[in-house]
Amino acid sequence: MIPASFEYFRPKAMGEAFALLEQHGEEAKILSGGQSLIPMMKLRLARPAYIIDINEIPGLRYVKEEDGYLKIGGLTHEADLEASALIQSKYPIILDTASLIADPQVRNMATVGGNLAHGDPANDHPATMLALNAQVIATGSHGQRAIPVKDFFLSLFTTALQHGEILTEIRIPIPPARSGGAYFKLERKVGDFATVGVAAQVTLDSNQACERAGIGLTNVGSTPIKAKKAEEFLRGKTLDEFHIKQAARLAVEDARPSPDLRGPAEYKAAMVKELTRRALTRARERT
Ligand SMILES: Cc1cc2nc3c(=O)[nH]c(=O)nc-3n(C[C@H](O)[C@H](O)[C@H](O)COP(=O)(O)OP(=O)(O)OC[C@H]3O[C@@H](n4cnc5c(N)ncnc54)[C@H](O)[C@@H]3O)c2cc1C
Repeated sequence: MIPASFEYFRPKAMGEAFALLEQHGEEAKILSGGQSLIPMMKLRLARPAYIIDINEIPGLRYVKEEDGYLKIGGLTHEADLEASALIQSKYPIILDTASLIADPQVRNMATVGGNLAHGDPANDHPATMLALNAQVIATGSHGQRAIPVKDFFLSLFTTALQHGEILTEIRIPIPPARSGGAYFKLERKVGDFATVGVAAQVTLDSNQACERAGIGLTNVGSTPIKAKKAEEFLRGKTLDEFHIKQAARLAVEDARPSPDLRGPAEYKAAMVKELTRRALTRARERT
């Protein structure tokens, strides 16, 4: 439970952080809330020789609407999302997600940037960001690049971030009128990682048919999963019980659950179906 020794830096500007990351190469790790990195270091699953704590770099902690996007700064804490009037009033899917993560102590420290950058398929924000069609902004000494979240998660604990890049912002297109979303999570006990989680975001057209559906799945594969078959199926359909149930069946086809302490694969597949049904139903109610 005691991490291997490391050198600790607390840069006060982005340029300083980039220089440290470049100087120390692959042996350096960024620290945000420490809620995933520190436990991994204590278990010696991670042994970075250099820690670059980015918490004193100003301007990375905000939630705002600007230029057609909801913008969330990489260092925004889960508790900030829960307390945000904007999130509470306009983005219930994000409020659902943040408030189901761990417990208040963890949420006071953990950041949204860290939740995505960690690349853990059991984390909750990735599915929600997939449903919302979000982009991740990666900033490095080269400048900035926008990575669609659907291309961000490459394999278990591996993302499209390059060494030396800091996840500085998450951008979500502001949903048009007649949109709604929800996140449902099955957990063994309060505060646990998901046995299964499902995020659904829908937009209806003026005839009440589904114009766009985004569906993301948590912890049923080596990466967070976009349930493409269900999304495509719903386009143009009325979001009634019949079509929602068919979409829920299709979501299972994209899931790749494995058996573990949280249950057998068949059980998880059944839960994907049920939670997709619930998430789509709640999303429709919220449009
Ligand atoms: C008891 C407990 C329960 C938990 N339960 C849940 C849960 O139910 N759901 C859930 O989603 N999560 C859960 N977590 C995990 C935790 O919430 C997230 O993984 C956490 O939000 C990660 O963010 P952080 O800021 O703490 O990242 P850190 O731990 O600081 O970093 C995690 C990884 O991301 C990298 N990183 C961090 N920030 C950046 C950045 N801005 N740019 C580039 N790389 C970066 C770090 O180098 C590291 O590799 C739990 C954690 C604990 C301790």
